[in-house]
Amino acid sequence: MKTVPPLDLAVKNIPPLDLTRQYKLIGEDLSATVAEVLASGRYIGGSVVENFETQFAGYIGTQECVTCNSGTDALYLALRALQMQPGDEVITTAFTFIATAEAITLVGAKPVFIDIDLATFNFNPAQLAAAITEKTKAILPVHLFGNPTDMTAVMAIAQKHGLAVIEDCAQSTGATWAGKKTGSIGHIGCFSFFPTKNLGACGDGGAVTTNDPALAAKIRMLKEHGSRARYYHEEIGVNSRLDALQAAILQVKLRHLDAWNAQRQAVAERYHQLLTPVTGVQKPQAAVGGESVWNQYTVLIAGDSPANNGNESNLIPVTYRDRVRERMQERGVSSMVYYPLPLHLQSVYKNLGYQVGQLPVTEQVSHEVLSLPMFPELSPEEQEQVVYTLKDCLAL
Ligand SMILES: *Cc1c(COP(=O)(O)O)cnc(C)c1O
Repeated sequence: MKTVPPLDLAVKNIPPLDLTRQYKLIGEDLSATVAEVLASGRYIGGSVVENFETQFAGYIGTQECVTCNSGTDALYLALRALQMQPGDEVITTAFTFIATAEAITLVGAKPVFIDIDLATFNFNPAQLAAAITEKTKAILPVHLFGNPTDMTAVMAIAQKHGLAVIEDCAQSTGATWAGKKTGSIGHIGCFSFFPTKNLGACGDGGAVTTNDPALAAKIRMLKEHGSRARYYHEEIGVNSRLDALQAAILQVKLRHLDAWNAQRQAVAERYHQLLTPVTGVQKPQAAVGGESVWNQYTVLIAGDSPANNGNESNLIPVTYRDRVRERMQERGVSSMVYYPLPLHLQSVYKNLGYQVGQLPVTEQVSHEVLSLPMFPELSPEEQEQVVYTLKDCLAL
């Protein structure tokens, strides 16, 4: 039997993310702080950036925070600071944004992908041991969609084999594992302040967190053209800065982050309840042992497996999930697919030699994931419309 959505709900378009609602809430505070920075004449570095670094380290619970231009740069700088050499291997997940592996490749190391866990979408730490070789130098867990990876398991195996751990926290700012914030558990945490992340700037931004002052100093040197004293250069570095305007904006937003993350958790809980009676949709599971901050609320929609799987000329097959998504879009409900093609099958990584079928859970999930609208200000009525629409589109 089909469910007919109430008429007043049926007409409104629902975006995957609406940043204008947050702006309405804090717009005045943002304008005031932006005006202050503009009037100060100090746009690069200075106390605004330093204060944000202190506040963010305090929030994450690390001794050190070094800001930079993006989450991608944070990963790159972290790997550079750990002195990766050509041929070194870094174990990570293929079910993530390209930046995670790109940074590994950019420092000359080699990404080694292990399969993910169907329940968490994060790499399965039980597979780490088998992937470790004498070339392995680091483990790079990604806390995907805001859901923390089992860091107890990761740290235990890292310690046993003497490996560094870099956490990709781009989607997990504020998430915890065993009571500690992601980004404070491994040796280095890497954050992105891209506008769609839980703590987003009004532009690009990123940060590295660590409890190791020597690593922090090294990262600071690398991000400033490889110099500790101006105009004296000891390494080839990069120019990677968080500017004062973004730092000022992030200071305002950081004060709201816990409340926004709590709202995301409430949105996730409501989706969970609304979706419980719906068949054909697998709900994401809340982290066991940690707390997710729900950067995305991602369901699995199983359907026919793509017939052209394995055909190299078409690695992005249309799945049942895609057809459901299209129908929902026609009815005004936008959703997203993160990520349609796992990294081990990307053409840019052909040289790594992975085959279709090698990471079966990763590949299955890439065919079935659908991220529903998720942001703190999403209303219960909108969520009902999302679920009504999803249910109807499944029935077609
Ligand atoms: C967004 C993101 C990054 C990159 O961050 P940018 O600030 O966009 O460079 C890295 N890893 C993951 C998992 C991300 O989601």
